[in-house]
Amino acid sequence: MDAVYADCLNRFLKRLGQQTFFSMGTDEHSFKIVDKAKELGVTPKQFVDAKFLEFESFYNQLDLSFDENLQSSNPKHYWVANLIWERLLIKNLIYKKTYQGLYCIGCEDFYSESQLIGGHCPIHPHLEIQKVSEENYFFKLAAFKEQVLEYLDRVTINDPSVRVEMKNFAKDLQDISVSRDRSRLSVDWGIPVNSDPSHLMYVWFEALQTYLTPLIPDELYENWLEGSPDIQKTIELEVWEIWAEELPQNLQIIGRDNAKFHLIIWPATLFALGLRPIESLLVHGMINDKFGRKFAKSAGNGITLEDTLSQFGKDGTRFIILHELNSIGDTNLDIDRVIESYNANLANNLGNLVVRVTNLVEKMLGGLINFDPIDIKVPAAMKLEINTNEVYKELEDLAPEKAFRILITQATLINQYLEKHKPWELAKDADKNEAKIKTVLTVAAINLKTIAETLSIFLPDSGGQIYEILTASKIIKAPAIFPRIEVDAES
Ligand SMILES: [Zn+2]
Repeated sequence: MDAVYADCLNRFLKRLGQQTFFSMGTDEHSFKIVDKAKELGVTPKQFVDAKFLEFESFYNQLDLSFDENLQSSNPKHYWVANLIWERLLIKNLIYKKTYQGLYCIGCEDFYSESQLIGGHCPIHPHLEIQKVSEENYFFKLAAFKEQVLEYLDRVTINDPSVRVEMKNFAKDLQDISVSRDRSRLSVDWGIPVNSDPSHLMYVWFEALQTYLTPLIPDELYENWLEGSPDIQKTIELEVWEIWAEELPQNLQIIGRDNAKFHLIIWPATLFALGLRPIESLLVHGMINDKFGRKFAKSAGNGITLEDTLSQFGKDGTRFIILHELNSIGDTNLDIDRVIESYNANLANNLGNLVVRVTNLVEKMLGGLINFDPIDIKVPAAMKLEINTNEVYKELEDLAPEKAFRILITQATLINQYLEKHKPWELAKDADKNEAKIKTVLTVAAINLKTIAETLSIFLPDSGGQIYEILTASKIIKAPAIFPRIEVDAES
């Protein structure tokens, strides 16, 4: 979900002529991964590499326009995480102490007694909370309370309730444990602290730092590996200069379950490093089943991306994410209703419009349309001008589904326009109505072309396809761009 949102907004910003760098990544050092790898009898690294390829194949099937997709198990990231660690250590913002805490293996995070619900973490009521006592490194998170609160006042967040929740959370900031003692772990998996190899970095702490790693060219890391200590020192200075220059990042897209990490720990870490935090965040909710239950393997109510892609195809899947899901709050996803919406909005409304316009243009105008607005004089009564501003405004406000829904209503407007002016009726007296027919179809085609251009922000394939059909040297009746999807009788 995050990734498709990010892709859509990336395409939007590019449309506006902005230069973008779209980076994605996977955090791979969680203990859950260790357990799964064990089950499969492979090493954690083999497991995450296989998973990564699987994800990347999905990303490619969804046509995501990312510039970088980083694995946190990448050696360059180990290097970066240790550069950051060293800097925080030198600044005395990381220190060692004995810690006793309640740990949820699902969140990979510690909780206080008061945060538990019925003895369990709020997100994983089915998992046992573990009592953990060990000597760990701590990050002085509490020292950044005022800065984080002030940041929470000014940062752009699409969902106002997230700001309120995070501000409440930030009022009671405690220093956080950022390492685990290796001797206490059953499997050695994570980024070792170079200055104290008996510790591994806490997964979330270094995972957030994957936002910084792609900003450093691989070449710089390779030079560092081969360089003398003097060269290494120079390269390290250069790394900090790059971050100071490239930050802040403009936009982060995250799930609500990750808000605490991205809106508290991450800005505090950046403040600690003297770097500027993210300017705006799209924090989306979770997807539940149609009854509002969380997706869970045990409940058997999950919907996999694989199934969705095979049933709905690339643009159908993108349609579900960008049109059917709420960008604010959770969505109860009812696949039957999604199919209805797909058929109504894409197959019928937009899909039929494309067939209709191209068919009429082929039959009545010999497939020829002049898109040059200077050459067209349209009487006031026959005007129709689809405006992309409203769609763009919603995208600027980080509400892709609202933007997409407006775009679909614009297709409805063109259909209504054709119903009103009825070129097929005018054709009954083609000689007399020649100019009128030409005007109506030209206006319809110009507006449809605008829709196709905007549609490619959401559905790059279909948008591009419609655009090509309309701008061909001779327009011919289009095939069904969005084949109807039948409701599966079994479900
Ligand atoms: Zn949990």
